[in-house]
Amino acid sequence: MSPAKITRIYEKLARKISKAKSELIYKNQFELLISVLLSAQSTDKTVNKITPILFSKCPTPNSMLALGKSRLAKIIKPIGLAPAKSTNIINTCKIIIDKHEGKVPGTRKELEHLPGVGRKTANVVLNEGFNEPTIAVDTHVFRVANRTGLAPGKNVLATELKLLEVTPDKWLKNAHHYLLLHGRYICTAKNFNCQKCVIKQECGFVEKRFF
Ligand code: SF4
Repeated sequence: MSPAKITRIYEKLARKISKAKSELIYKNQFELLISVLLSAQSTDKTVNKITPILFSKCPTPNSMLALGKSRLAKIIKPIGLAPAKSTNIINTCKIIIDKHEGKVPGTRKELEHLPGVGRKTANVVLNEGFNEPTIAVDTHVFRVANRTGLAPGKNVLATELKLLEVTPDKWLKNAHHYLLLHGRYICTAKNFNCQKCVIKQECGFVEKRFF
């Protein structure tokens, strides 16, 4: 895709999406990290229903540890995968306290050493919590990048690296949010309607649908 077309895609998405931000509700880096861990294979909406209760009881890694795994699992049960997520969260809190003076670390290497934190989660935390120009590729970003031809890739890592290569500096910080929100609400997996899409002229998807 030509650089001019790529720029037009970002300009149009930026005009359409005024709030380039995660839909998770959090007040600080710790709450952001826990919310992202909870959101795996769930939705931001579901996570946002539970986290106000959780963070009012446990606003810090120490208070989360004091709550303990089984009580944490009970609180987060509606989000799904509660046994695995509670184990990861408690172990993450232990490492944050023991190795990082109670603070969420701000490098990819340190983040990816935390239980349950993979590349995508680290990218979200670095972008939202530390203002880094990372691009987390989730299912929505992957779909939009591939359908449009902006950054085709066989897997999420290939697409992420391609996005980092082709995205102009100006849009790097917000690219993840623009592509994710576009994929979540417009270029959805099944019932997408290209008629409503602001980047339909630039999109190279051969199966565009207008109805
Ligand atoms: S034109 Fe259609 S396929 Fe292309 S990005 Fe828009 S909604 Fe998705």
